[in-house]
Amino acid sequence: MSDSPTKTDITQIFKRLRSASANKVCYDCGSKNPTWASITYGIFICIDCSGIHRSLGVHLTFIRSTNLDTNWSWQQLRQMQLGGNAKARTFFSSHNCLTTDTQQKYNSRAAQLYREKLHQAAAQAMRIHGDKVRKQ
Ligand code: ZN
Repeated sequence: MSDSPTKTDITQIFKRLRSASANKVCYDCGSKNPTWASITYGIFICIDCSGIHRSLGVHLTFIRSTNLDTNWSWQQLRQMQLGGNAKARTFFSSHNCLTTDTQQKYNSRAAQLYREKLHQAAAQAMRIHGDKVRKQ
């Protein structure tokens, strides 16, 4: 299987992802320039919201820093590439999950569906492309 992403890989991938306007604000509260991510939903969130996510438990949302953590896997980076704040927002609103209550939002049916969908999409991309993500 492929080797682990290097610090440079991680930096480059997030530099590109953070250039998308939707990823420049926290998915949950709208704060600017979020540096944390919920890998589970492929979303960018601020440090305050990352604390709330942590309290929900890793079965609901798995948090990692986009600029401090170096132990990202290719599967996790794939999930961030295939996700993003704009896609998550579209999915949640199309499932009528419009609550701003974090507890409710991530315990919802829409969240469960999106978790599974994103995980499967990333796993499929890994089978097809492996770590070629770094060249894209
Ligand atoms: Zn926030």
